[in-house]
Amino acid sequence: MVVGAGPGGSAAAYYLRRHNLSVLILDKATFPRDKTCGDGLTPRALAILDDMGLLTPLTQIACRINGVEIYSPDGHSVSSPVAARDARYAYMLVLPRLKLDNLLLEHALASGAAFEPAVHVTGVTTTTSGVTLTCVQDRKTWTCSARAAVIATGANMRLLLSMGALQEAPPTMVAARAYYDDLNVLCDRVQLRFDGVRLPGYAWVFPTGPRSANVGAGYFAEGHASQRGISSPTEAFESFVLHSHLHDTLARARRVSKLKGFPLRVDFLTAPTFMGQALFVGEAAGLVNPLSGEGIDYALESGRIAAEHLARMFQQADFSTARFEEYDTALRERYQNLFEFCHRVRRTFHHPFWLNVLVRLASRRMDLKLLLIRIVLGDQPAPHSFSYWKLIKALLRPH
Ligand SMILES: Cc1cc2nc3c(=O)[nH]c(=O)nc-3n(C[C@H](O)[C@H](O)[C@H](O)COP(=O)(O)OP(=O)(O)OC[C@H]3O[C@@H](n4cnc5c(N)ncnc54)[C@H](O)[C@@H]3O)c2cc1C
Repeated sequence: MVVGAGPGGSAAAYYLRRHNLSVLILDKATFPRDKTCGDGLTPRALAILDDMGLLTPLTQIACRINGVEIYSPDGHSVSSPVAARDARYAYMLVLPRLKLDNLLLEHALASGAAFEPAVHVTGVTTTTSGVTLTCVQDRKTWTCSARAAVIATGANMRLLLSMGALQEAPPTMVAARAYYDDLNVLCDRVQLRFDGVRLPGYAWVFPTGPRSANVGAGYFAEGHASQRGISSPTEAFESFVLHSHLHDTLARARRVSKLKGFPLRVDFLTAPTFMGQALFVGEAAGLVNPLSGEGIDYALESGRIAAEHLARMFQQADFSTARFEEYDTALRERYQNLFEFCHRVRRTFHHPFWLNVLVRLASRRMDLKLLLIRIVLGDQPAPHSFSYWKLIKALLRPH
């Protein structure tokens, strides 16, 4: 049983089917459904989408991005080609989630998974033979049972709270986005912007076509008091549009969608990753990059890790707690360093002074440019020991 048909749930279902396990996906939404997002697919996401056999169809319908521009709080910019992953994926794609998530779900269904839409899962209990889910559909409550469950409910924490997996909601990032048409001078580059944003936070302009884009802004709810007194993601967005150096780009642009805000869970370092006979994937395990807010890649990857772990458990008919703990260990081995590194980089450098210095330095140093882009896209191998002083010295060394 998979709860949630976002990238994490659909990837888990697809990989479970690759191991010939029967899967039912439940989602409270009917598809296609929208998901508030920047719609950016990093090279890391492309690598796993390729493994799922989806890269070619995606490339045909998504907007291809070859470069990244980073804007400092004082409006300077540095641009660079997208740093390649595995020497193969040297680009990004942007595709609205309305289409991406539907494509992922259809792919899981084509591989043999079953899907029940408009089912709100309100409880998960462990039984002697697996899990029982309590579901509400058309105001009727029913239950269903399975050997194990994958929980892929995203940043919506209600189910995890009701299960007792979370005692309270952890601090989150929040972000809002809107779609624009008729923008000036868009090209094959995404913009990551720190001008006009509440720090620690960021904003983005992700082209969805030659003159259209997904524009958004987000910040950490525990941000610095000195900021503009912003209290909601939609306010952060409006403030960004007003105070950034975006005026020329937006001069004749039309907002063609509602402005929508949503939280992002970036708390993987302290998040539980399983409970009873249920594994958590994607944002349900706090897997969103605290520097850039990207989480589709980790949702897809952790969906695969969970499915392969479950397949081994089925093979060995071993569903002991120790096996569930091994899943936690696998996720920690893969992501702990990266997330610690990203949190520390955010705490150290998400200040106007450092961001202004970094962007200026990077405009003169290719190595630093690529390092910045890799860090922001979650692709920089994280060092095992981190020292602020070592990092700062490396950044400032003459080249
Ligand atoms: C404004 C914003 C911009 C972002 N920009 C980017 C970006 O550009 N690139 C990027 O990689 N990431 C981005 N992210 C993060 C990204 O959207 C998430 O990390 C990603 O969607 C996580 O995937 P998921 O499968 O874990 O969860 P989701 O995609 O959130 O899917 C969860 C699913 O579970 C269902 N569900 C929830 N609760 C229940 C329940 N109780 N019962 C049944 N169904 C349930 C929901 O209906 C939903 O379909 C952004 C996030 C925000 C908020």
